[in-house]
Amino acid sequence: MTGINIITDKMPVLFLGHGSPMNAIEENEFVTGWRNIGKTIPKPIAILCISAHWETTGTYVTAMKNPKTIHDFRGFPEELYNVHYPAPGSPELAREIKRIIIKAEVGLDEKWGLDHGTWSVIKHLYPEANVPVIQLSMDYYKDPQYHYDLAKELSPLRKKGILIVGSGNMVHNLGMASWENIGNPGFGYDWAIEANEKIKNCILSNDHKKLIDYKSQGKAFNLAVPTPDHFLPLLYCLALKEENEIAHIFNDKAVAGSLTMTSVIIG
Ligand code: ZN
Repeated sequence: MTGINIITDKMPVLFLGHGSPMNAIEENEFVTGWRNIGKTIPKPIAILCISAHWETTGTYVTAMKNPKTIHDFRGFPEELYNVHYPAPGSPELAREIKRIIIKAEVGLDEKWGLDHGTWSVIKHLYPEANVPVIQLSMDYYKDPQYHYDLAKELSPLRKKGILIVGSGNMVHNLGMASWENIGNPGFGYDWAIEANEKIKNCILSNDHKKLIDYKSQGKAFNLAVPTPDHFLPLLYCLALKEENEIAHIFNDKAVAGSLTMTSVIIG
């Protein structure tokens, strides 16, 4: 990828469309896109990931020294269950996040680890697993505005070399997925393409309000975001965008009809 200039002294923020867990072990254009990003940005001191796959009652941050690799999916080849991503955790960063977030009483979690929303993509950015990784959960019972506001409190971390990653999918409707087309990148239903374009336009024009209010944006949005889990990580990323920063789109493609891999780097 070319043409990315990080114009601030802060670490960039990434939203990564993660798609199928198989991306962890496949070679494809999305994996190449993630790998390129890993090479483009400064090496972080640690990574904080907000994954679509960790929703909780209340807000938690993983605080163990050595987070386990969680294989939170079913019916995939054994090869995928054999993948382990042994990045260390960072209890210090977990405690700092607990301290700086005022909006919620953040719990220090010792049980979770790294779910596939995190490891299936981060492993391509940092294959040596030598950057500490922690996760922040999303409170299932809170509205989008709450998540957006909470995310803003993470902003000081960017100046401390922490890479904040939101991992989800802008368009994500598994119930309508055409799995026979999973190996056919670019295959997207009209409503998926429409929602993807509208979401991108909102990102590029800083219209975050419309995205926070995604439930009122019509039929294409309703089909694209049937549940908040894969969409909310995008709001975490956008909340961290400063006015003078630029959002670049990459991996901008639909898969299986009803998902898009569209990703964003903000910096
Ligand atoms: Zn997912």
